[in-house]
Amino acid sequence: MSDLCLGVDIGGTKTRVGVVTSTHRVLDVRESPTPVREGAQAVLAVVARLGRELRGRWVDVAACGVGTAGVVDPAGGMVVASTDTLLGWAGTPVVGELTTLLGLRVHIDNDVNAFALGEVAAGAARGRAHVLAVMVGTGIGGAILLDGRLWRGAHHNAGEVGHVPVPGFGDRPCTCGGSGHLEGVAAGPAMAARYRQRSGDAVSFAEVARRAEAGDALAAEVVDEGGRVLGQLLAGLTNAIDPELVVVGGGAAQPGGRYWSAAERHYRQHLLPAVGDVPLLLARLGKDAVIVGAAELARRSISVPRS
Ligand SMILES: [Zn+2]
Repeated sequence: MSDLCLGVDIGGTKTRVGVVTSTHRVLDVRESPTPVREGAQAVLAVVARLGRELRGRWVDVAACGVGTAGVVDPAGGMVVASTDTLLGWAGTPVVGELTTLLGLRVHIDNDVNAFALGEVAAGAARGRAHVLAVMVGTGIGGAILLDGRLWRGAHHNAGEVGHVPVPGFGDRPCTCGGSGHLEGVAAGPAMAARYRQRSGDAVSFAEVARRAEAGDALAAEVVDEGGRVLGQLLAGLTNAIDPELVVVGGGAAQPGGRYWSAAERHYRQHLLPAVGDVPLLLARLGKDAVIVGAAELARRSISVPRS
């Protein structure tokens, strides 16, 4: 049997499909904007088109794994719930539809779960069995790996760290409709919104972070606050879950940046002695992490002989 799998990353901006080897090398990638306003069938059609393009070149693909935004039921092959980012995505039987469209066995999971599997397979958490993985970008998502397996919870919702309440921030709206949650304080758009509220300047988080480095005191305060809250929460989760390491990916966490420094500092401050050495690491696979992890998901589900 071939050792190649397709890994699919369905995001709120782009859809990327890659061919991945059993040693987690990405050989080829195709990408296209995700038609987020056109409904589920349009999104699936994009995945099918990119997948067929790749299979035209790499004929020996054995299976396909999909990592997608939203709450996912892997056993049922469905997206259970989704935000408005992907219109009509909740309720989509992704596995059934893509199996027909691609003529391959298809497996699905949440994109942050796939990110965690990718980092465990070939990134910063390589070979680890107990991992807390968090992505900080437009939103904040998480995944928990225990004893080498993703912990999914009773409602497929495990790892949703972005909606843990943060005391003292009840005035900050969250994308879930609630307020005072981690995502409403420490995600990129939340920090940009806070900066705009206080300065009147409507700029991206990347620009807020740049201004913070350049000496803008207000920008620094906003970025430090987000980093502090993220660090405190990661420490709390580490105290509760007891992972071997914590890995953080996504656009907001940049090495050497003010946000990451604040997160590291406050993370260390709140760890209990027993977990005081648990490393807080940046992800290594960059934008391919979900593709690598989705392919790994497919690989774990098929009986490829391992040599
Ligand atoms: Zn929330």
